[in-house]
Amino acid sequence: MNTNRLKKAQRILDFFHNNFGLHPPYNVLVDGTFCRTALEEKLQIKEQIPKYLGAQLKLVTTQCIIMEVEKLIKINSNLYGAWLVVKQFPVHKCGHAKNPIPASSCIKSLLKKRNPAKYIVASQDDDLCQYIHRRVVGAPILYLHYKTPTLEKPTEKCLVVASKKSKTLTVFEENTLKSLKRKYIEDDQQPRKKRKKPKNPNSLSCKKSKKVKLPQQGIKEGKRKRKRHRTKKISKPSSTISGE
Ligand SMILES: [Zn+2]
Repeated sequence: MNTNRLKKAQRILDFFHNNFGLHPPYNVLVDGTFCRTALEEKLQIKEQIPKYLGAQLKLVTTQCIIMEVEKLIKINSNLYGAWLVVKQFPVHKCGHAKNPIPASSCIKSLLKKRNPAKYIVASQDDDLCQYIHRRVVGAPILYLHYKTPTLEKPTEKCLVVASKKSKTLTVFEENTLKSLKRKYIEDDQQPRKKRKKPKNPNSLSCKKSKKVKLPQQGIKEGKRKRKRHRTKKISKPSSTISGE
């Protein structure tokens, strides 16, 4: 197979893995239309699809899908081969065992809005694919372009949901953000404590105290100075030298 095609498929699968939790082994939900086209194009589904997706996968179907093809054989006998192909795949429980419904309705009911069972839908049913485009996110569509398996690009709807998800934080990111906030809050509080700390200003005040001591001495001597001032006026040189 063309390596560019494989890389492209891998990128699409990575997108659905990162944004919608799809991971190997993939559940590839195969319907009658896909089996019919594969048969017409002589494509071996079991061989080619795992090669194209480059991962472990399970090809599965539902009872409703098998029943629908079986009924249609009565109208179009050419579908007998498609019925033989589709009924060889393991059957996933769809909840309609007692009252089978049309295949497309069955697939829609399994996909719901967010593809909870993480299916890759293998179908050539245009109506079903358009429904998935409009209503479902996180469900890759696999179709056959002649005999070439092709994964559809993610729809606009998927891209929008993915971009919104990327803006929201994961649990891990939230926790780290909380811890960062705590640190910042602690950091904010720490300088306040530092401000309250009297030790540093004391050390400064100790230095000051040396200077202060001098004025204190001065104060003690202030009385004398005052006296000296008085005396200075009278006799400056003799009193100041003798005072110091
Ligand atoms: Zn069903």
